[in-house]
Amino acid sequence: MRRRFAVVSVSWLIAVFGWPLPGSASTCETQLPSNIRGGIVARELLVLLAQSDTFRQQCRRIAAAPWVSVDFAIAQHVEGLNRAQTLIERFEAGAIRAHVTLAFGEDYLELIPHEVEHVLEQMERVALADEARTGRAWLDRSGGYETRRAITAGIRVRQELGADDYARCLRSSDAGWIWSEMRVNVAIISCTTRGTRSPAR
Ligand SMILES: [Zn+2]
Repeated sequence: MRRRFAVVSVSWLIAVFGWPLPGSASTCETQLPSNIRGGIVARELLVLLAQSDTFRQQCRRIAAAPWVSVDFAIAQHVEGLNRAQTLIERFEAGAIRAHVTLAFGEDYLELIPHEVEHVLEQMERVALADEARTGRAWLDRSGGYETRRAITAGIRVRQELGADDYARCLRSSDAGWIWSEMRVNVAIISCTTRGTRSPAR
């Protein structure tokens, strides 16, 4: 009877939340949780899991939040000629669905953790306007924000993968920015950090 009850309970949870509960011993070690769908960059995501403590920590936080889902895609062009864009959908019940688009040919291994950090910011309901007042985020001319936290995450992962030059971008005031706007319940966040590819020496 107890076992039957357990099965019924799990079925109920799946029906309510709409996706299987993520999590096994290998989750965020050698495989992605079910709420991170890598699509065409699934291989890069596994490389990051294998080589980056920072990315594994990001992955575990999302794996522990089954109300969040993240989908990755690549496009020839990203809005505003940015290197990447994350579109966040918020649902009334609290669910968050993030659509990450990476510009073709860019440095996916830096951009993936950068964009995932923006997803974590949204999960934490970080107030970007408040962050801007403290200098941890800033506006660009289009009225959007970039955050030092996301830039740092991308650069840190890059360092873990052996690209120390990316550390120089931490000191670059124009290393990147994001553009965002609110469309009802949709926030569009875009990033351009072209300076990080060839840091000034
Ligand atoms: Zn960004």
